[in-house]
Amino acid sequence: MDLSKLYTTEAFIYSQEYLRHYYTLKKEQPLARIKRYLPSFTSKVKDMQSFFGLNTTGSLDSETLEVMSTPRCGVSDVEDYSHNNRVNRWNKNVITYNIGRYTSDLPHSTVDSLIESALSVWARASTLTFVRLRTQRADIMVEFSTFEHGDAYPFDGSKGTLAHAFGPGEGIGGDAHFDDDETWTAGSKGFNLYLVAAHEFGHSLGLRHSQNPESLMYPTYKSSRSSHNLLSKEDISIINSLYGKEETIQQIQTLNVR
Ligand SMILES: [Zn+2]
Ligand SMILES: [Zn+2]
Repeated sequence: MDLSKLYTTEAFIYSQEYLRHYYTLKKEQPLARIKRYLPSFTSKVKDMQSFFGLNTTGSLDSETLEVMSTPRCGVSDVEDYSHNNRVNRWNKNVITYNIGRYTSDLPHSTVDSLIESALSVWARASTLTFVRLRTQRADIMVEFSTFEHGDAYPFDGSKGTLAHAFGPGEGIGGDAHFDDDETWTAGSKGFNLYLVAAHEFGHSLGLRHSQNPESLMYPTYKSSRSSHNLLSKEDISIINSLYGKEETIQQIQTLNVR
């Protein structure tokens, strides 16, 4: 079967990488087995199209390729990054964080305050409190790095994958990594660190990707998000289902006082 008749080689190779990364497509088979490989490839294209609400044609049309080339979070859309699938929440409400390696794109004090603001997005909507702990052993370690950086998910240079984070757990669990080949900013040029970090911390707390474009947990980068109202109703209801609602806790405290 001549693949070039189906897709341009470049688009085919790019989409294979994309689907392997975000849709668990198995490694490329030798070309001799392409007849067996192609159905699984097509079915992953359909999964991706379905996730993003596109026509599920299974072919690499321009709409599909456009979404595939949009900068995004590195976490898979079909399985989460937690190294232990059973754990999807912290068993505590005070969570520690620290910044290990900084980017040189912004002053340290700016990174500190953007990271703090991104955590506050989740703190305001839940019973969670974030405390900076200046050690390497904080629950959520924030690191900026490039390409291979000590986990199984190397970065890819500028654009493409912007960052990724691990679900709650020991060690690397909860950690958020940012691709330092991106230009990180506090404004609208390059990639806004506050927006990306707020999304990644959603994963650090146990949330997965959402198919709802209004959700902060939508996988692709959107610079147009209102920075005041980052969380959708869905995001708030998920964080509350994981960690409880502020009001409920207050009610319990009031009952105890009586
Ligand atoms: Zn993500
Ligand atoms: Zn990483």
